[in-house]
Amino acid sequence: MKKYGLIGEKLGHSFSPQIHGLLQDYEYRLYEVERDTLSRFMNETDLQGFNVTIPYKQEVIPFCKTLSDRAAAIGSVNTVVRMKDGSFFGDNTDYFGFEYMLKKSGVSVSGKKAIVLGSGGASKTVQAVLKANNASSVTVVSRTGENNYGNLQLHKDAVVIVNTTPLGMYPNTGVSPVDLTSFPDCRLVLDLIYNPDKTALILQAKSLGIPAFSGLSMLVAQAKEASDIFTSTRSSDDVIASIEKTILSQTMNIALIGMPGCGKTTVGKLLAEMTDREFIDLDEEIEKALGRSIPDVIASEGLEYFRNTETAVLRKISCQSGKVIATGGGVVTIPENKPLLAQNSITVLLERPLKDLESKGRPLSQSKGVEALYNERKDLYQEWSELKIANISPKQTAKEIKEKLFHF
Ligand code: NAP
Repeated sequence: MKKYGLIGEKLGHSFSPQIHGLLQDYEYRLYEVERDTLSRFMNETDLQGFNVTIPYKQEVIPFCKTLSDRAAAIGSVNTVVRMKDGSFFGDNTDYFGFEYMLKKSGVSVSGKKAIVLGSGGASKTVQAVLKANNASSVTVVSRTGENNYGNLQLHKDAVVIVNTTPLGMYPNTGVSPVDLTSFPDCRLVLDLIYNPDKTALILQAKSLGIPAFSGLSMLVAQAKEASDIFTSTRSSDDVIASIEKTILSQTMNIALIGMPGCGKTTVGKLLAEMTDREFIDLDEEIEKALGRSIPDVIASEGLEYFRNTETAVLRKISCQSGKVIATGGGVVTIPENKPLLAQNSITVLLERPLKDLESKGRPLSQSKGVEALYNERKDLYQEWSELKIANISPKQTAKEIKEKLFHF
């Protein structure tokens, strides 16, 4: 079997092996290469071809005997193949990937002012695609450049904003390179980051009603073209959307929300088993972190202390991928928790008649009363959830969630 792979410095978050596994039948592995060993890797590898990521897209160029025209023009190589004479040919499939992402957005950049955040390898490719698609101007915003984060007001008329910085990427999620409220004319936000699925930048764009797209479609599209180059074939672009769906279904968490006692833990465990995922119970993680039971913590330290701990623990859990997460009933009472869940989770509301809700060991259900608690939270549960399921029997409910989320 032919051997391919991805080289880069840190590859822990990579989805590439999953994507290539869905594209073709060859071995595809991750190769973490340290900076001072790149030369040895290039001289000694027995791979037939490989993709290249941070920080080597420019560094591999001197090792390539020939380059495609676009790789040479852009000065960035993300796909390397071994030629018959053993030498390397370097290409840039990020170009196709970003052009695919741009087309998928349905927004034409022709005649529009664009700004590109970051000046690294991906930025060069993005600039080339925007120019080829007739953007009226393409300005690079760089921390150290003439156009920088201190004079963004010069570009408040930008219509298209593309993030090519790693700001907001897993595991340092929740931060954004710019505040979109400073760009009143913005009509399209493209973020090359694909993990998490929705960065803070994407979430802010969506909250402002600006069309926004994350980098997964680009990642799959560049992989598809690389795979075609590896195998000298030409596959249909239709596979890109279907692989994107499959990857999302594997990587998005399923977060269960709902009233205390509605069955989140029971259904969550069953769902995790049925979907072969790890199950995480937020309350259990909080108790582990504090070394005490939640009723004890609320009784001694108060509700605010508990909620702050809950948010801190959720921050760590929610940026992970492919888990089933049972949240606490009051998670929706803290606005800060909403983007934490939204970044990488499909949120499912479990509904159960109030009379059937278990209140034993649940201090707020006991002190406030289940009905008062429900009235406080019911609108939030509706607003936060993408899917609502009546929990009649846990097994049936878990099955129903699985069917609804993985119906393709
Ligand atoms: P890179 O060569 O390291 O460039 C990133 C640029 O971002 C840097 O040159 C820097 O520009 C800026 N930057 C770095 N750290 C920053 C910080 N803390 N705050 C603000 N700006 C910072 O990396 P790359 O290959 O271009 O990749 C960049 C991002 O795009 C990564 O997140 C990568 O995963 C993603 N990407 C995605 C795809 C995809 O298929 N979806 C493909 C390629 C890349 P300045 O010094 O000029 O500020």
